Amino acid sequence: PEANIGVVGLAVMGANLARNLASREGNRVAVVNRSPERTRTLVDAHPEANFVPAESMAEFAASLTRPRTAIIMVQAGSATDAVIQELAAVFEPGDIIIDGGNAQFTDTIRREHEMRQRGLHFVGAGISGGEEGALNGPSIMPGGSDEAYATVGPIFESIAARADDGEPCVTHVGSDGSGHFVKMVHNGIEYADMQLIAESYDLLRRVGGLEPAEIADVFAEWNTGELDSYLIEITGEVLKQIDTRTGRPFVDVVLDQAGQKGTGTWTVQSALTLGTPISGIAEAVFARGLSSHPEQRLSGARLAGPSTSVELEDRDAFVEDVRQALYASKIVAYSQGFDVIRTAARQYGWRIDPSAIAKIWRAGCIIQARFLGRIADAYRADADLVALVTAPFFADATGRAQDSWRRVVSTAALAGVPAPGFGSSLAYYDGLRATRLPAALIQGQRDYFGAHTYRRVDGPGVFHTEWSGDRSETQISE
Ligand code: NDP
Repeated sequence: PEANIGVVGLAVMGANLARNLASREGNRVAVVNRSPERTRTLVDAHPEANFVPAESMAEFAASLTRPRTAIIMVQAGSATDAVIQELAAVFEPGDIIIDGGNAQFTDTIRREHEMRQRGLHFVGAGISGGEEGALNGPSIMPGGSDEAYATVGPIFESIAARADDGEPCVTHVGSDGSGHFVKMVHNGIEYADMQLIAESYDLLRRVGGLEPAEIADVFAEWNTGELDSYLIEITGEVLKQIDTRTGRPFVDVVLDQAGQKGTGTWTVQSALTLGTPISGIAEAVFARGLSSHPEQRLSGARLAGPSTSVELEDRDAFVEDVRQALYASKIVAYSQGFDVIRTAARQYGWRIDPSAIAKIWRAGCIIQARFLGRIADAYRADADLVALVTAPFFADATGRAQDSWRRVVSTAALAGVPAPGFGSSLAYYDGLRATRLPAALIQGQRDYFGAHTYRRVDGPGVFHTEWSGDRSETQISE
């Protein structure tokens, strides 16, 4: 055996991760793929990587030093299960199988359990940063046991992106499926971030009257301040792009139906199961859904819009309002994302340090942003923070932004421009702020039709009112 680490699955992500691993001092990388042509192509194209190619799993296992460590980068779902079984058949107790794909965290919990019974370590590791990140340094979110992490941690640290302060963007998230859970939420936040940026663009264009190239300049400007992030940066680049065929802005020739591969939906499904409101992320998933229902949109095009148009008095002031609305809504989306991580950690018994998660998202991944450093600070100051938005720094930021935020949401409504992300995050913010919610009335309705009982504001006990009788109140229990 000569390789200390192996990669199974050499499509774009696996090939780039293998090259990244091979470029690090001390690593020798074994590679294998279901169709061997892919392995040969990679090995021929990158002689500098000095790969150890294998054409079968047995050959692959034989090329690895013990404990054998292999990263799987194949399609999530049944393909991953198939590869795990093939590896388990040739690996021995103490060896480590890492799944770097976008697995459902519940699958990861199941697989970790199964492998543990066979004496193997199984680490579900979320990897973010797309193909570029895989090659040059991704953000890595590994779960699994402490024992496995002792071996895989240094390998991950060697290939991960580095934040400005030089820290590698990887941390041991927690046990079993926690890494894949956190990667899933990362993607959910990414959906929200993208939707909020898209709403900003739409408002600047349709209400502000700016052209795509001008909006690109606005984003470039925003990227120098507190919104500084990878997604804002690439948005500016996309808006600058001119279609070579028609000479029109690229954004105008792209079909306006957003695709999705499922991690946003999974995030919302998990949040629903956990009873955690993540409305900003949910709106982003639903907005993609609406965009990709052309028949509904065609029939909806008949519906009436506002009878008066919105005239802006000060365009620059509107641009600044949109920036503030974007910042505040983004804070809400991250607050909700961290809330679902916190709730899941309690539910599944994971010991997750939210501050460490914010830190590993500072570079390498799609949602990398300057303000993740602020999130890390907030959780370092108070690890039990119940809502990120209430941390002093973010309470102050949303407090300063809220007048702008309200103007943008009302302007969007008056202009008939959909801004579900902005609207729902503002409603969440106001819901958090409210000292009294109409939930009291809902309790009354529930007690009326279903005798679901209620509690009172002025003392303990559970009560029911005889709605169909004399409307007297009975105490049901303490
Ligand atoms: P794909 O998801 O397109 O998967 C292709 C790879 O899976 C090929 O190596 C293919 O082998 C292999 N494969 C498929 N079915 C089987 C099977 N039944 N048995 C064995 N091997 C099989 O590749 P990507 O590189 O895009 O992604 C890999 C993983 O990384 C996925 O889980 C993805 O969700 C995740 N990911 C992807 C990102 C991206 O930006 N693309 C970002 C982050 C994570 P063959 O060559 O023989 O067909």
